[in-house]
Amino acid sequence: MQPFSIVIHGGAGTLIKGLMTPQLEAEYRKALDHALEVGYGLLADGGTALDAVETAVRLLEDSPLFNAGKGSVFTAEGTHEMDAAIMDGSNLEAGAVTMVTGIKNPVSLSRDVMEKSNHVFLAGKGAMQFANSLGYEILSPDYFYDEVRYKQWQGIKDSDDFQLDHSVKKDGKFGTVGAVACDAEGNVAAATSTGGMTNKKWGRVGDSPMIGAGNYANNKTCAVSCTGSGEYFIRGVVAYDVSCLMEFKGLSLEEAASEVIHKRILDIGGDGGLIAVDSDGNIAMPFNTEGMYRAFKTSTGSKEIGIYT
Ligand code: ASP
Repeated sequence: MQPFSIVIHGGAGTLIKGLMTPQLEAEYRKALDHALEVGYGLLADGGTALDAVETAVRLLEDSPLFNAGKGSVFTAEGTHEMDAAIMDGSNLEAGAVTMVTGIKNPVSLSRDVMEKSNHVFLAGKGAMQFANSLGYEILSPDYFYDEVRYKQWQGIKDSDDFQLDHSVKKDGKFGTVGAVACDAEGNVAAATSTGGMTNKKWGRVGDSPMIGAGNYANNKTCAVSCTGSGEYFIRGVVAYDVSCLMEFKGLSLEEAASEVIHKRILDIGGDGGLIAVDSDGNIAMPFNTEGMYRAFKTSTGSKEIGIYT
């Protein structure tokens, strides 16, 4: 048995002044703590990194606080279109879905794509047909309704603007969720889930469901889940870049993650953060924004829940 660990995030960005109250902050911390402890508990019982990340992300999807699953933002059409991905670092298998609606836990649908189809990435109508074939329940829009997000959308819906969650200006955001874990066998896994950006249109897809951009796992190096302005994270192939810096340049997890978030992604104008673990159970959680909802727990006895720098 080797050291094991789990890290989760609930999005990176800038807080809207006045939105965060002590009570709301306590709710965020509680939701993060719950997902973290359940995921960690699985690892402590000898469970796999893959099960731990899926379980932690499902719990975050079920919370209205985060822009994923239940708390997903509104598109320009007033609907919810969700994206998710999962990757198993032990065999490089991966599954992803984009533009799905009415699915309670898109991360589990992405795992089903990985395990029950011959494909990696299913989109829109086809992804919904796949979900139907497996008997997924399709929830009505009421389940995803949230007043705060509805108001955010109303504020920009007649414009060409699109914005990240919790945002009043283009560079403010919070919300996408993700988890990375290293289990006692040294296997790593990553999962990410999001509602994307408020008022998005034209089938806009961000980095979250794209293997290598917002989500990646490889036992040789690390597991990574990203959050931030997806357009930049796609162009920076961020999650895979962290892995490449470790594999080909010999950087440590911390060095590689920091190089990407504090240098490479900034150089092209991108903002956000990521969480990562390597196959020794080390962790990294860099972000170049005002804050990132995040939490980690390791078998070596450290635990932390954070929001701001
Ligand atoms: N990266 C996500 C996207 O662009 C948004 C986020 O991280 O909040 O869809």
